[in-house]
Amino acid sequence: MSTDCHGDVLLTKEGHQIINCERCGYIHVFPLYSEEELEIFYENVYAESTPSYLWHEKVYNIRKWKKNGTILDIGCWEGNQLEFFQKDGWQCVGIELNKKAATIAASKGIEVYQISIRQFFDKFPQRKWDVINAAYILEHIPDPVGFLVRLKNNLEPKGIIIVELPNEFNPFQLAYIKEYKLLPYWIALPDHLNYFDKRGIENLLQRAGFEVIHGETSFPMEMFLLMGDNYLQDRSLGKHCFGKVVEMERILRQYDPGLLSELYASLYRCGIGRSMVIYAQVSDRR
Ligand SMILES: [Zn+2]
Repeated sequence: MSTDCHGDVLLTKEGHQIINCERCGYIHVFPLYSEEELEIFYENVYAESTPSYLWHEKVYNIRKWKKNGTILDIGCWEGNQLEFFQKDGWQCVGIELNKKAATIAASKGIEVYQISIRQFFDKFPQRKWDVINAAYILEHIPDPVGFLVRLKNNLEPKGIIIVELPNEFNPFQLAYIKEYKLLPYWIALPDHLNYFDKRGIENLLQRAGFEVIHGETSFPMEMFLLMGDNYLQDRSLGKHCFGKVVEMERILRQYDPGLLSELYASLYRCGIGRSMVIYAQVSDRR
Protein backbone atom coordinates (compact mmCIF):
# COMPACT_ATOMS: atom_id res chain seq x y z
CA MET A 1 0.00 0.00 0.00
CA SER A 2 1.41 3.42 -0.88
CA THR A 3 0.44 6.94 -1.87
CA ASP A 4 0.22 5.70 -5.49
CA CYS A 5 -2.81 3.61 -4.57
CA HIS A 6 -5.91 4.47 -6.57
CA GLY A 7 -9.12 2.89 -7.80
CA ASP A 8 -12.91 2.95 -7.57
CA VAL A 9 -14.20 4.04 -4.18
CA LEU A 10 -16.58 1.32 -2.95
CA LEU A 11 -17.50 2.96 0.34
CA THR A 12 -16.53 5.84 2.62
CA LYS A 13 -16.53 5.17 6.33
CA GLU A 14 -15.13 7.06 9.32
CA GLY A 15 -13.09 9.38 7.08
CA HIS A 16 -11.47 6.50 5.22
CA GLN A 17 -12.25 5.12 1.81
CA ILE A 18 -12.46 1.49 0.77
CA ILE A 19 -10.93 1.41 -2.71
CA ASN A 20 -10.67 -1.30 -5.33
CA CYS A 21 -6.98 -0.56 -5.79
CA GLU A 22 -5.66 -0.91 -9.34
CA ARG A 23 -2.07 -0.73 -8.16
CA CYS A 24 -2.31 -3.45 -5.48
CA GLY A 25 -4.90 -5.63 -7.25
CA TYR A 26 -7.11 -6.00 -4.17
CA ILE A 27 -9.54 -3.93 -2.12
CA HIS A 28 -8.14 -1.96 0.82
CA VAL A 29 -8.65 1.04 3.08
CA PHE A 30 -7.25 4.41 1.99
CA PRO A 31 -5.59 6.41 3.39
CA LEU A 32 -3.99 3.98 5.79
CA TYR A 33 -4.23 4.42 9.54
CA SER A 34 -1.16 5.67 11.37
CA GLU A 35 1.02 3.20 13.31
CA GLU A 36 -0.20 4.84 16.53
CA GLU A 37 -3.87 4.42 15.65
CA LEU A 38 -3.33 0.76 14.86
CA GLU A 39 -1.27 0.12 17.98
CA ILE A 40 -3.92 1.62 20.23
CA PHE A 41 -6.54 -0.50 18.52
CA TYR A 42 -4.57 -3.74 18.74
CA GLU A 43 -3.72 -3.26 22.39
CA ASN A 44 -7.41 -3.22 23.15
CA VAL A 45 -8.69 -6.14 21.12
CA TYR A 46 -7.63 -9.68 20.34
CA ALA A 47 -8.66 -11.37 23.53
CA GLU A 48 -10.01 -14.19 21.38
CA SER A 49 -9.10 -15.89 18.15
CA THR A 50 -11.00 -16.49 14.94
CA PRO A 51 -11.68 -20.21 14.74
CA SER A 52 -10.33 -21.94 11.70
CA TYR A 53 -12.93 -24.20 10.18
CA LEU A 54 -10.71 -26.43 8.13
CA TRP A 55 -8.13 -27.89 10.54
CA HIS A 56 -8.73 -31.46 9.35
CA GLU A 57 -8.60 -30.49 5.71
CA LYS A 58 -5.24 -28.72 6.02
CA VAL A 59 -3.54 -31.87 7.33
CA TYR A 60 -5.37 -33.98 4.75
CA ASN A 61 -4.46 -31.72 1.81
CA ILE A 62 -0.83 -31.06 2.62
CA ARG A 63 -0.06 -34.80 2.25
CA LYS A 64 -0.44 -34.34 -1.51
CA TRP A 65 2.83 -32.38 -1.49
CA LYS A 66 4.64 -33.26 1.74
CA LYS A 67 4.40 -36.32 3.97
CA ASN A 68 5.80 -34.40 6.94
CA GLY A 69 8.49 -31.91 7.94
CA THR A 70 8.55 -28.60 9.79
CA ILE A 71 5.60 -26.28 10.14
CA LEU A 72 5.41 -22.77 11.60
CA ASP A 73 1.99 -21.46 12.65
CA ILE A 74 1.88 -17.67 12.91
CA GLY A 75 -0.70 -16.72 15.53
CA CYS A 76 -1.16 -20.32 16.65
CA TRP A 77 -3.55 -19.43 19.50
CA GLU A 78 -3.98 -22.53 21.71
CA GLY A 79 -2.20 -24.76 19.22
CA ASN A 80 -5.41 -26.27 17.85
CA GLN A 81 -4.17 -26.45 14.28
CA LEU A 82 -0.67 -27.60 15.25
CA GLU A 83 -2.07 -30.45 17.34
CA PHE A 84 -3.49 -31.93 14.16
CA PHE A 85 -0.11 -31.68 12.42
CA GLN A 86 1.75 -33.00 15.46
CA LYS A 87 -0.40 -36.16 15.46
CA ASP A 88 0.50 -36.59 11.81
CA GLY A 89 4.25 -36.57 12.54
CA TRP A 90 5.10 -32.92 11.87
CA GLN A 91 7.63 -30.88 13.83
CA CYS A 92 5.53 -27.93 15.01
CA VAL A 93 6.46 -24.41 16.07
CA GLY A 94 4.00 -21.63 16.92
CA ILE A 95 4.12 -17.88 17.50
CA GLU A 96 1.40 -16.45 19.74
CA LEU A 97 1.29 -13.06 21.45
CA ASN A 98 -1.58 -13.87 23.79
CA LYS A 99 0.07 -15.22 26.96
CA LYS A 100 -2.78 -17.44 28.10
CA ALA A 101 -3.22 -19.00 24.66
CA ALA A 102 0.55 -19.49 24.26
CA THR A 103 0.73 -21.28 27.62
CA ILE A 104 -2.05 -23.67 26.61
CA ALA A 105 -0.31 -24.38 23.29
CA ALA A 106 2.98 -25.08 25.10
CA SER A 107 1.21 -27.50 27.45
CA LYS A 108 0.44 -29.61 24.38
CA GLY A 109 4.16 -30.10 23.79
CA ILE A 110 4.36 -27.51 21.02
CA GLU A 111 7.42 -25.21 20.76
CA VAL A 112 5.75 -21.80 21.22
CA TYR A 113 7.23 -18.29 21.21
CA GLN A 114 5.29 -15.46 22.81
CA ILE A 115 6.87 -12.75 20.65
CA SER A 116 5.92 -10.74 17.57
CA ILE A 117 6.49 -12.05 14.04
CA ARG A 118 9.23 -9.47 13.53
CA GLN A 119 11.00 -10.52 16.77
CA PHE A 120 10.70 -14.17 15.78
CA PHE A 121 12.37 -13.71 12.40
CA ASP A 122 15.07 -11.52 13.99
CA LYS A 123 15.73 -14.32 16.47
CA PHE A 124 15.79 -17.09 13.84
CA PRO A 125 16.82 -15.42 10.55
CA GLN A 126 18.20 -18.64 9.04
CA ARG A 127 15.53 -21.08 10.17
CA LYS A 128 13.62 -22.50 7.17
CA TRP A 129 10.20 -24.14 7.07
CA ASP A 130 8.51 -26.71 4.86
CA VAL A 131 5.12 -25.18 5.60
CA ILE A 132 4.01 -21.87 7.11
CA ASN A 133 0.40 -21.44 8.21
CA ALA A 134 -0.87 -17.84 8.42
CA ALA A 135 -4.53 -17.74 9.36
CA TYR A 136 -6.45 -14.45 9.64
CA ILE A 137 -3.45 -12.16 9.32
CA LEU A 138 -3.42 -10.72 5.79
CA GLU A 139 -6.60 -8.71 6.27
CA HIS A 140 -5.13 -6.90 9.29
CA ILE A 141 -1.71 -5.72 8.11
CA PRO A 142 -0.72 -2.58 6.16
CA ASP A 143 1.85 -4.33 3.95
CA PRO A 144 0.68 -7.84 3.04
CA VAL A 145 3.12 -8.14 0.11
CA GLY A 146 6.10 -7.35 2.36
CA PHE A 147 4.82 -9.86 4.91
CA LEU A 148 4.49 -12.65 2.32
CA VAL A 149 7.92 -11.97 0.86
CA ARG A 150 9.37 -12.27 4.37
CA LEU A 151 7.69 -15.66 4.77
CA LYS A 152 8.88 -16.74 1.33
CA ASN A 153 12.49 -16.05 2.32
CA ASN A 154 12.05 -18.35 5.32
CA LEU A 155 10.55 -21.25 3.36
CA GLU A 156 12.49 -24.21 2.02
CA PRO A 157 12.68 -24.54 -1.77
CA LYS A 158 9.22 -25.83 -2.81
CA GLY A 159 7.98 -24.69 0.58
CA ILE A 160 4.26 -24.11 0.99
CA ILE A 161 2.36 -21.29 2.61
CA ILE A 162 -1.22 -21.80 3.75
CA VAL A 163 -3.12 -18.55 4.08
CA GLU A 164 -6.60 -18.38 5.56
CA LEU A 165 -8.67 -15.22 5.43
CA PRO A 166 -12.22 -13.93 5.10
CA ASN A 167 -13.67 -13.97 1.59
CA GLU A 168 -15.01 -10.42 1.25
CA PHE A 169 -17.06 -8.78 -1.47
CA ASN A 170 -17.92 -12.36 -2.46
CA PRO A 171 -20.89 -12.98 -4.80
CA PHE A 172 -23.27 -14.17 -2.05
CA GLN A 173 -22.56 -11.08 0.06
CA LEU A 174 -23.03 -8.82 -2.94
CA ALA A 175 -26.29 -10.52 -3.97
CA TYR A 176 -27.59 -10.18 -0.41
CA ILE A 177 -26.85 -6.47 -0.01
CA LYS A 178 -28.19 -5.74 -3.49
CA GLU A 179 -31.49 -7.47 -2.72
CA TYR A 180 -31.96 -5.72 0.62
CA LYS A 181 -30.32 -2.39 -0.39
CA LEU A 182 -27.68 -2.57 2.36
CA LEU A 183 -24.14 -1.22 2.62
CA PRO A 184 -21.30 -3.75 2.81
CA TYR A 185 -21.84 -4.97 6.39
CA TRP A 186 -18.47 -6.76 6.52
CA ILE A 187 -16.37 -3.57 6.58
CA ALA A 188 -14.62 -3.54 9.97
CA LEU A 189 -12.34 -0.53 10.51
CA PRO A 190 -9.61 -0.34 11.60
CA ASP A 191 -9.57 -4.10 12.27
CA HIS A 192 -9.64 -5.14 8.62
CA LEU A 193 -7.48 -2.97 6.38
CA ASN A 194 -7.65 -5.28 3.33
CA TYR A 195 -10.63 -7.05 1.76
CA PHE A 196 -9.72 -10.01 -0.41
CA ASP A 197 -11.89 -12.01 -2.74
CA LYS A 198 -10.50 -14.87 -4.87
CA ARG A 199 -9.08 -12.51 -7.48
CA GLY A 200 -7.54 -10.21 -4.88
CA ILE A 201 -5.74 -12.90 -2.90
CA GLU A 202 -4.46 -14.60 -6.05
CA ASN A 203 -3.09 -11.24 -7.29
CA LEU A 204 -1.39 -10.69 -3.95
CA LEU A 205 0.21 -14.14 -3.79
CA GLN A 206 1.47 -13.84 -7.34
CA ARG A 207 3.01 -10.42 -6.65
CA ALA A 208 4.82 -11.87 -3.64
CA GLY A 209 6.28 -14.69 -5.76
CA PHE A 210 3.92 -17.56 -4.95
CA GLU A 211 2.01 -19.92 -7.18
CA VAL A 212 -1.42 -21.04 -6.00
CA ILE A 213 -1.57 -24.86 -5.92
CA HIS A 214 -4.91 -25.39 -4.19
CA GLY A 215 -7.79 -23.36 -2.80
CA GLU A 216 -10.79 -24.12 -0.63
CA THR A 217 -13.43 -22.06 1.05
CA SER A 218 -15.33 -22.67 4.25
CA PHE A 219 -19.11 -23.14 4.16
CA PRO A 220 -20.87 -20.09 2.64
CA MET A 221 -22.55 -18.81 5.79
CA GLU A 222 -24.23 -16.10 3.69
CA MET A 223 -26.51 -18.86 2.43
CA PHE A 224 -28.34 -18.58 5.76
CA LEU A 225 -28.83 -14.85 5.16
CA LEU A 226 -30.14 -15.56 1.67
CA MET A 227 -32.57 -18.10 3.12
CA GLY A 228 -33.90 -15.55 5.61
CA ASP A 229 -31.90 -16.38 8.75
CA ASN A 230 -30.55 -12.92 9.62
CA TYR A 231 -27.69 -13.86 11.92
CA LEU A 232 -26.18 -10.38 11.48
CA GLN A 233 -28.84 -9.00 13.81
CA ASP A 234 -29.13 -12.01 16.10
CA ARG A 235 -25.94 -13.47 17.54
CA SER A 236 -27.65 -16.52 19.02
CA LEU A 237 -29.06 -17.32 15.57
CA GLY A 238 -25.50 -17.02 14.24
CA LYS A 239 -24.33 -19.62 16.76
CA HIS A 240 -27.24 -21.85 15.84
CA CYS A 241 -26.43 -21.63 12.10
CA PHE A 242 -22.74 -22.29 12.77
CA GLY A 243 -23.63 -25.34 14.87
CA LYS A 244 -25.59 -26.77 11.93
CA VAL A 245 -22.54 -26.43 9.68
CA VAL A 246 -20.22 -28.04 12.24
CA GLU A 247 -22.55 -31.04 12.56
CA MET A 248 -22.95 -31.42 8.80
CA GLU A 249 -19.16 -31.31 8.37
CA ARG A 250 -18.62 -33.88 11.13
CA ILE A 251 -20.95 -36.37 9.43
CA LEU A 252 -19.40 -35.88 5.99
CA ARG A 253 -15.82 -36.18 7.33
CA GLN A 254 -16.64 -39.48 8.98
CA TYR A 255 -18.13 -40.79 5.76
CA ASP A 256 -15.23 -39.71 3.55
CA PRO A 257 -12.31 -37.54 4.75
CA GLY A 258 -11.77 -36.07 1.28
CA LEU A 259 -15.37 -35.21 0.47
CA LEU A 260 -15.57 -31.79 2.14
CA SER A 261 -12.26 -30.85 0.65
CA GLU A 262 -13.57 -31.59 -2.84
CA LEU A 263 -16.81 -29.73 -2.22
CA TYR A 264 -15.07 -26.66 -0.82
CA ALA A 265 -12.46 -26.65 -3.59
CA SER A 266 -15.28 -26.43 -6.13
CA LEU A 267 -16.85 -23.56 -4.19
CA TYR A 268 -13.49 -21.78 -4.14
CA ARG A 269 -13.37 -22.00 -7.93
CA CYS A 270 -16.71 -20.09 -7.97
CA GLY A 271 -15.37 -17.54 -5.46
CA ILE A 272 -18.05 -18.61 -2.96
CA GLY A 273 -17.59 -19.39 0.74
CA ARG A 274 -17.20 -17.48 4.00
CA SER A 275 -13.42 -17.82 4.29
CA MET A 276 -10.69 -18.93 1.92
CA VAL A 277 -7.85 -21.36 2.60
CA ILE A 278 -5.20 -21.12 -0.09
CA TYR A 279 -2.10 -23.26 -0.54
CA ALA A 280 0.70 -21.59 -2.46
CA GLN A 281 4.20 -22.69 -3.32
CA VAL A 282 7.31 -20.59 -3.80
CA SER A 283 7.30 -19.91 -7.51
CA ASP A 284 10.23 -21.21 -9.60
CA ARG A 285 9.84 -18.40 -12.06
CA ARG A 286 11.51 -15.71 -9.98
ZN1 LIG B 1 -3.19 -0.12 -3.23
